[in-house]
Amino acid sequence: MRASGIILLLALSACARPPRAETFRPADTGELTRLHDRYRVPAIARREFTHVELWSALGPVVDAAGGPERDEAGRSAEGRPIYRIRYGSGPTRVLLWSQMHGNESTATMALADVFRFLAEAPDDPRARRLAERLTIEAVPMLNPDGAERFQRRNAMAIDINRDARALSTPEARILRGMQQRFRPDFGFNLHDQDVRARVGSSDRLAAIALLAPPFSPGREDNAVRLRAKRVAAVVRGAAEPLVAGHITRYDDTYNPRAFGDLMQSWGTSTVLIESGGWRDDPEKQHLRRVNFVALLTALDAIATGAYVSADPASYETLPENGRPVNDLLVRGPMVVVPGLEPYRADVMVQFADALAKRGARVAEVGDLADAAARDTVEAAGLFLHAPQPLAVDRPAAFVLRRGRDTASAAVWRMDAN
Ligand SMILES: [Zn+2]
Repeated sequence: MRASGIILLLALSACARPPRAETFRPADTGELTRLHDRYRVPAIARREFTHVELWSALGPVVDAAGGPERDEAGRSAEGRPIYRIRYGSGPTRVLLWSQMHGNESTATMALADVFRFLAEAPDDPRARRLAERLTIEAVPMLNPDGAERFQRRNAMAIDINRDARALSTPEARILRGMQQRFRPDFGFNLHDQDVRARVGSSDRLAAIALLAPPFSPGREDNAVRLRAKRVAAVVRGAAEPLVAGHITRYDDTYNPRAFGDLMQSWGTSTVLIESGGWRDDPEKQHLRRVNFVALLTALDAIATGAYVSADPASYETLPENGRPVNDLLVRGPMVVVPGLEPYRADVMVQFADALAKRGARVAEVGDLADAAARDTVEAAGLFLHAPQPLAVDRPAAFVLRRGRDTASAAVWRMDAN
């Protein structure tokens, strides 16, 4: 009786395990970063690029190769072709899409690099595993009209990631159609978030935020979401060596209009990857590399089945994605403006475009000793000269000088641009 019970348990546990399951080990980051150096698409070197620029760089690479294939998944609102790349003929189906927000291009750059690698290194053991065990479909730029203007929304002024339910945009209908026809087991929803977001309440920037989206307002787990959490744990393990201490868990409030949440409810185990901010990376090239390493690692872990041994707690225990910090703190100057006696005040500046440092406005003036910022200028002992009195929410233009006199030496300048 006892013996047969044990045999039954063994049989059950054998059934519960997928075949080919291998223990998940963190990626060999060094090897993958060397792969990235070799297969990075060099023509895409900055975060702002158009549909034409992307596909004139990536299209020929994919079209010349025997592995990946490219076709048109549909047309954008303004008629631009939305290209899909397919790779592999294995039993497990994976769908990846990036840049549904037109100004969120980091993962598009990484996907270009991934497909260049798969196109040009078909005999690499990783590429072979993916080809044999997975069928991959990817849309590297779902919102080409938004990318043309480097704006979030599509040409109809609709946020495609709030259109998963209404399906008013052709871009959302294309993605929904792919989900219905392809029935992916796994999905990767690839975005960029505010570069100012922090790790919890710390001063550290959130380089990568991860989410296994909920499929219902109760945010409970089912098998689909649990698989997504395991894949998110794999992504964390892969990214950690490159952005240690800068990975967060994105807000998991259910949104019935968002694609990640609905994909999960439609049965596709979906992971959201949000590339955020990284110091001295204005073109997001470091985070492009992190995405390349993370995506290849996750795809390989899905192909081998290794993801099943990844611990969901490794995702669940990530610190929360924190509130954004301001862009620039000028700490401790004497403020010299027309009509007022000089006064000591910290000055916080916020940019309309934080990475390009364009559109500077005054965000706060006063005692900001406890405030965090992405950059700080130590200005104690210096004099902040502005042509007009400082005003919150007004353009920020000033010069830091050595003295109170407007003719004294300038050491730093903030132009209104
Ligand atoms: Zn986004």
